[in-house]
Amino acid sequence: MISVGMVVDLLSVAIASQALVPLRDVARLTRDPAVKRGWHALIAAVIACMLAITVGALRDADAPLDIDAAMHLFVHVVGISIVTALARLARRTAQDVIRLAAFEAQAFTDGLTGLGNRRLFTARLEEETARSRETGAPLSLIMLDIDHFKRINDTYGHANGDVVLRRIADAVMAGMRNADTVCRIGGEEMAIIMPRIDPAQAAEMADALRAAVGAMAVPMGDGRTITATVSLGFATRQPEESGDSLFRRADAALYAAKRGGRDRLSRAA
Ligand code: GH3
Ligand code: MG
Ligand code: MG
Repeated sequence: MISVGMVVDLLSVAIASQALVPLRDVARLTRDPAVKRGWHALIAAVIACMLAITVGALRDADAPLDIDAAMHLFVHVVGISIVTALARLARRTAQDVIRLAAFEAQAFTDGLTGLGNRRLFTARLEEETARSRETGAPLSLIMLDIDHFKRINDTYGHANGDVVLRRIADAVMAGMRNADTVCRIGGEEMAIIMPRIDPAQAAEMADALRAAVGAMAVPMGDGRTITATVSLGFATRQPEESGDSLFRRADAALYAAKRGGRDRLSRAA
């Protein structure tokens, strides 16, 4: 015979089953393996509860519905409903957090090149300056500007200019370490923050990058290729120097490289 208790218990099992998909989604959205394991453990616990309630419901099918049994049923339904509601809220929250993180990443990225933007540059320069001040580790900054870029735009068109800009950005990324921050801080101007590297080695990497860009031939799709050169200003943080001052010295070095004839690296005084 089917009792009221059995129906209510099976109803709570049905409600509990609604928690499983949201919990699985949260586990999938989570990156940290330890947190992932936690969500998997919770899924296992919900399944164990569902089994226990089902077994109990079948075993006590004929039990009279006294006040104790009614209290048990109430706890089952309310408890399971709370778990299911929490699982759904957790999924919504995880999705919101991921959306916000994507917006945040976008806010620090340059749309054309995929490099960091000026906002990221300002934030990272401040961070790395503070770290260099605390630890005494070296910090170098490179300012890079494409030579006669206006001429490239005028000759080949703005769209091809964009292609050259992207290819140079790719070359800069490829030539730098993971620890370096590469940002597009102006139209055809990039900045590279190089923390914790011997300044002589950093300057060597910068000059190798200059040579690599100069040797590049960017295909235009109609058989023609575009070549470009870059000028670089290089500065290493001096004791007690601020990020702003380091930036100004690297920028002055860039202008010295331009005045010196372009396609060269100039080191700040
Ligand atoms: P210099 O060697 O002195 O740096 O000469 P330049 O022509 O590169 O410098 P100038 O500052 O005179 O011109 C920069 C040019 O960069 C002008 C502008 O149209 C172009 N530019 C800036 N941003 C972009 C962009 O996103 N795409 C393209 N295609 N061109 C850009
Ligand atoms: Mg330029
Ligand atoms: Mg410029």
